[in-house]
Amino acid sequence: MSDCLFCKIVAGDIPSAKVYEDELCYAFRDINPQAPTHVLVVPREHIASCADVTGDNAALVAHIFTVIPKIAAQEGLTGGWRVVSNVGADAGQTVPHLHFHILGGERLSDRMS
Ligand code: 5GP
Ligand code: ZN
Repeated sequence: MSDCLFCKIVAGDIPSAKVYEDELCYAFRDINPQAPTHVLVVPREHIASCADVTGDNAALVAHIFTVIPKIAAQEGLTGGWRVVSNVGADAGQTVPHLHFHILGGERLSDRMS
């Protein structure tokens, strides 16, 4: 997707603070962190959101979920962490490229909404 912000970040056309990468996914620091550690993990392939996860791309999402705990460990989040993926307008999704927020480094809010 040529006009997708996160596709441009994955391609290196927009700079980002890399945390992790492999052949399937890329992780970088959120530009507006909402916790001491706030990392975004995205598939290299453009998928719009969790609403577009299907049998055809579920293995990619499963792979990302093996990467997320590695990043949490790399970031030293020994006290725990949270994974969030916003879908659509009601959830406040602002970038329509599937991404998982990893949040941690402090006691997180008891509320999730
Ligand atoms: P969403 O609101 O779609 O769940 O999350 C999008 C996230 O992307 C937000 O937390 C926002 O701060 C982050 N973001 C938006 N633009 C950029 C950018 O250019 N670089 C980085 N590193 N993060 C961004
Ligand atoms: Zn994209």
